[in-house]
Amino acid sequence: MNNKHNFNEVISKYLQNLMCNTEKRYGKESSEYKALYYQYVKTDAELMEMREHNDKHYEAIVDCEQKGLRYIERLYKRQATIDLTTACSAHCRYCLRQNYESISLNQEDENAIMEYLAKDEYLKEILITGGDPLLVVDKLIHVMERIINEAPNIRIIRIGTRVPVQNPEQLDKKLLEFFNNNNKKVFFEIALQINHKIELQSETQRCIRELQRVGVCIYAQNVLLKNVNSSMETLIELYDALRYEHIETHYLFHPVPISRTAQFRMPLDEFLNFARLLTSSGEIPGRSKPMFSLMTDIGKCTLYEGTLRKTNVKEYVDVKTAYRLEERLKWNPQYKLPASARIADDGTLIVRYMDGI
Ligand code: SF4
Repeated sequence: MNNKHNFNEVISKYLQNLMCNTEKRYGKESSEYKALYYQYVKTDAELMEMREHNDKHYEAIVDCEQKGLRYIERLYKRQATIDLTTACSAHCRYCLRQNYESISLNQEDENAIMEYLAKDEYLKEILITGGDPLLVVDKLIHVMERIINEAPNIRIIRIGTRVPVQNPEQLDKKLLEFFNNNNKKVFFEIALQINHKIELQSETQRCIRELQRVGVCIYAQNVLLKNVNSSMETLIELYDALRYEHIETHYLFHPVPISRTAQFRMPLDEFLNFARLLTSSGEIPGRSKPMFSLMTDIGKCTLYEGTLRKTNVKEYVDVKTAYRLEERLKWNPQYKLPASARIADDGTLIVRYMDGI
């Protein structure tokens, strides 16, 4: 049965107003307006198209044969990911999550997850994501409370959200109170995707400061998108603005290769050129430099010299990683290498990745 959730166009009222005001202030051709428009407004063709695939970028489901253990993924030794919901305040057109199935985490799932987390000697961090976990605050608080009480090996709880930029009013006081009361027990971190300076409006800034005030560390995990932020001027402005908000810089991703997103994906040569220009030109301080990275079928890879290798198929490159299958099997014995990956002579993994056009 196809249980995939509905990924129609959804744009929060807040974003609709922001788009409207941005158009009036800067015009339709401005980088500010386009940055918002292209992230959210779908083309007619996109709206018409039926979603037939379920092409997650990786298959890292933990012990999926064990009854009751669902919605947890494990690609990394120290960290697991819990999917809490598929709901978001707005649907980003390039988001991988459009291919995920609907989520309905029940008591049994929770029990199985807590047991799994508590007994794993390697696990130190949990990423709670979705969808947007800040849309299901009661459930989020409940799950975090259980992690704190039942899995003391977990030192850091990270949450992926776009509520501060998509619907800042939705930030719930209960959640702030929870962070405030528990920030001595674990570290709380929020991964916030901000792709253009226009997204840092005063409402968003307020929301960020409230989270920081209760001890939450906020870091930026952005995407380099054609037509949205693909100019040096835009990126310099963005990373300056993030620094002034005390938001830590983290990844700047190449968009994940999924259907209907080619218009966002620049060729990797161009992506690397942005990496060179942004990080080795003196235009932004070292403290603001993002890690230019790919989300491959076997995990995230930051680009270094020799990471990308030509293949005999024009549209694809090979990504040389330092991941090792035997290492991964120690903490996720059910892990299966995807068809796109292979083991190199030195025992590390190489994975095929679709280039942009
Ligand atoms: S808010 Fe996050 S999970 Fe939701 S569509 Fe956008 S990127 Fe995807």
